[in-house]
Amino acid sequence: MDLSCLDKILENEPKYRLKQVKEAVFGNLIESWSEASNLPAKLIERLNKECSLLISAEIIKSGDKGDVLKAVIALDDDSKIESVLMRHDGGRSTVCVSSQVGCSVKCSFCATGSSGFKRNLTEYEIIEQVLFFSRYLKNKYDERVSNIVFMGMGEPFLNYENVISAIKILNDKDGLNIGARKISISTSGIIEGIEKLAEEKLQVNLALSLHAPNDELRSKLMPVNKKYPLKDVLKAIKKYTKKTSRQVMFEYILLRGVNDTEEHAKKLAYLMKGQLHFVNLIVYNPVGKSRMLPSSSRDVKKFKEILEMQGILVGQRYHFGGQIKAACGQLGQKQ
Ligand code: SAH
Ligand code: SF4
Repeated sequence: MDLSCLDKILENEPKYRLKQVKEAVFGNLIESWSEASNLPAKLIERLNKECSLLISAEIIKSGDKGDVLKAVIALDDDSKIESVLMRHDGGRSTVCVSSQVGCSVKCSFCATGSSGFKRNLTEYEIIEQVLFFSRYLKNKYDERVSNIVFMGMGEPFLNYENVISAIKILNDKDGLNIGARKISISTSGIIEGIEKLAEEKLQVNLALSLHAPNDELRSKLMPVNKKYPLKDVLKAIKKYTKKTSRQVMFEYILLRGVNDTEEHAKKLAYLMKGQLHFVNLIVYNPVGKSRMLPSSSRDVKKFKEILEMQGILVGQRYHFGGQIKAACGQLGQKQ
């Protein structure tokens, strides 16, 4: 599927046609133009010929509880991307989308990073992932996607323009109509992206992958820290919260003996002072040949307690999807 063909096809059509097309594709979630009862037959014929709505994907279900699904989507150039659907209690569902094929940031704990970088996704390739699961949820449960997180493959701020235009379409009342507050972007700390997002009139959530409380360790785990050191990233985040009054989520993967000691917790608490923060502790999902291990539950508990004692707001990310390599950082890894 490549919806960019619509621009050309609708070029000489009346203006209201675009609204009708959006209603059919995003509202009624049609899978073939022949289902678009609101469009004239001639246009349907052309659309069927030149603008396929087919999404080629393979679904892999999780053995966990069956509530996590990974889709491996084949793009028109045969690149493969992965997206994940998480169904929560109460009919809520989150889609974790990819923003790039691979990733150039190469964090040492992440499978996507070690697979290398191929290219940016177009806005429609980002939307396609949400559309795929929207159709799935409608057909199977008569439910809709409620939340979107840019936590799949790739660094969203290294594909800024396409990510933002995709969000605008996802957010559009005539599009999938997903509230901006239900959309989150996670970044490894690309300062230009943080600065630009602060200027957008969008109420999306921002998450920063922190993972270490000092430059030496952070640069080892995330080479991007050499270009954007901690102090500068935190300054950019502070400016962002000042401008938007929005709380930022700081993600912290706990790695046994690497970043999970008492000292690390205290330093992290210190860094959070004065930030409009929420710290999310993430259980490490072992990937590839990495020799790192997740922290023990005793150390996780202790780490969390130290933060809480310092008045830091802290949560823990639920561990799911490990069995189908759909958990954070496992995307792009061989099955
Ligand atoms: N590139 C962006 C978004 C995609 S990664 C970023 O780095 O923020 C989404 C989240 O998964 C990030 O917080 C990332 O640090 C985390 N992650 C990566 N590898 C992981 C692993 N092996 N186990 C657990 N979380 C991981
Ligand atoms: Fe890229 Fe994010 Fe993985 Fe780092 S954690 S390699 S930035 S996808």
